[in-house]
Amino acid sequence: MSDLIVGIDLGTTNSEVAAFSGGRVRVLGPGNGILPSCVGVSPSGEFLVGEAALNQQRLFPDRTIRGIKRKMGTSDTVSMAGHDYTPQEVSALILKELVNWASASLGEPVKRAVITVPAYFSDAQRNATREAGNMAGIEVVRILNEPTAASLAYGFSEGTRHTVMVYDLGGGTFDVSIVTIEGDVTEVLSSHGNNRLGGDDFDDLLVMHLQQEFHRQHGVFVGEEHRAARARLWWAAEQAKKQLSAEPYARVREEALIVENGKPLHLDAEISRDTYESLIRPLVDSTLDSVSKALDDAGRSSSSMDAILLIGGSTRTPLVSRLLRERTGLEPRQDVHPDLGVALGAGVLASRLAGQQVDRVLVDVSPFSFGPSYLGERGGVSYPYCYHPVIRRNTPLPVTRTESYYTSYPGQTTVEIQVFQGDNEDALNNILVGNFRVEGLKDTKEPNEVLCRMSLDIDGILHVSAIEKATGKSKQITIGGALQPKTEREVEDSRRKIEDLFRRREGAAAFGEWDETGEDDLPAEYELLNPPPEDVAAEPVEPAEATPADPAWAELRHKAVDLIKRARAASGKMHGEDREEARELQAAIEEAVSGHDSRSLNEKIRSLEELLFFVEGS
Ligand code: AMP
Repeated sequence: MSDLIVGIDLGTTNSEVAAFSGGRVRVLGPGNGILPSCVGVSPSGEFLVGEAALNQQRLFPDRTIRGIKRKMGTSDTVSMAGHDYTPQEVSALILKELVNWASASLGEPVKRAVITVPAYFSDAQRNATREAGNMAGIEVVRILNEPTAASLAYGFSEGTRHTVMVYDLGGGTFDVSIVTIEGDVTEVLSSHGNNRLGGDDFDDLLVMHLQQEFHRQHGVFVGEEHRAARARLWWAAEQAKKQLSAEPYARVREEALIVENGKPLHLDAEISRDTYESLIRPLVDSTLDSVSKALDDAGRSSSSMDAILLIGGSTRTPLVSRLLRERTGLEPRQDVHPDLGVALGAGVLASRLAGQQVDRVLVDVSPFSFGPSYLGERGGVSYPYCYHPVIRRNTPLPVTRTESYYTSYPGQTTVEIQVFQGDNEDALNNILVGNFRVEGLKDTKEPNEVLCRMSLDIDGILHVSAIEKATGKSKQITIGGALQPKTEREVEDSRRKIEDLFRRREGAAAFGEWDETGEDDLPAEYELLNPPPEDVAAEPVEPAEATPADPAWAELRHKAVDLIKRARAASGKMHGEDREEARELQAAIEEAVSGHDSRSLNEKIRSLEELLFFVEGS
């Protein structure tokens, strides 16, 4: 049999397949390799899977099936175009499409796979997943927990023992798990979540907001009877949501959303990130309650975590990482593509089982953070070198992010943008990488909003633009080699430049020139002001389920880790059948640990100990 094994993330919203190809683990398939977990039969009788099925879902819901993962392990059936199907059969259709993608990409038939499941899946749900694989014509060599897969993608199986938090917020489900990893032995210590919470709920809230806006503009409510208009609203809301992950504003324009008495009524609305965040804040807060529960159940504190890994498309929402950072004091990691991380992790394990030496997934990320300085407060006094990054370290490339700032005094028509590299909240402790001046802004009494957009490409070229929001007027600079580590001399030059500017400011401030003088006399570096984000009250929501942390189990797991290390060391001495048996026992031990099955673990440990006793003694 071929050694080829693929890794599959069989998700509620989307599914992907990954394997070792061209020297690294990669996601396979057309386009971005993401297959919506959706199947359907068109009115003309054609079988549809993925995007094509999803496209017809709102128009022909009785001919389309979505979210089948929620029914895995139950005896429910679902109906599609008048025929009934078991959840396993529907999942098999999705798996088969993924296997076809993989076979076409790799140029050979795929017969074996590792498939991921949520940590909280019961035996019945895991068995149903295996069955689905068999129905699709593949041997399921391992069922892998999703948070474990994410940890593998990040390379946490290398070196010593690590404990990581995996926060997974997808389209329709949320879970957070605490995972320990030591070599090939991984264990989910605790897992909490809500399998009815995800980015689709964020869309719903935005749709409601847009409905209210449309009603305010035209006095008409977009109700159930406006089926096509609602489908357009949902699509527009999702696009706006995604845009708000990178920009402080999103504009929604839907021409002739509804035609009333022969008159087309248009929707034209601008949504700010602040408004959006206040809509979704209670939902995100509820996920933080699950984070606390998961830590409690695992008997850990956030400071004992080696990392927080973000998985699932909805973790791109900046509010999620901001609140996690505030709650735990750790910088959440997002360097592995959040939609693909689980599939890539399954691909890492699949490749190892097939005999490849793979430690982690390779991704292009920014090794540095970048942002402008602004006038804010430090220690209760105003300070012109406040700083927070617009592009954060470890963000996958290419990336574009925009933040909004305000002029700092009435009638200010000039701003100087200073761009820094670094993470320190005092810009003077970071490295100045460029600066430019924007002149001719509108002369207003109110604070004038200026957007700072930063784009960093894979070659390390950083484009920074300042855009006056009211007029769209903009100015841009390009900074080459932004990803090159700076030499001592460059750092020293930059420090001197900053000190020069700072001295100019101190001189100016001493003369109290701030509010009284005209723009030309103003020290250039005062001028951006960044308002702190508003705090919105949280509504706690009860989290779902619990797994206890158990010291006797921790000891057993330790034993398993040691034993596997011994088996590895002794493998050179083993021959044919012994080696095969050791490999099988090792796999069974790994599975027993990840499934938290102490009876099976004790049994397999004993068998492997016996085998090693003979091998080591020989
Ligand atoms: P998943 O189930 O992990 O594939 O995640 C899908 C969810 O991620 C959907 O609700 C998407 O709308 C959401 N999503 C994808 N891209 C973004 C983005 N840039 N910002 C916020 N949510 C996103």
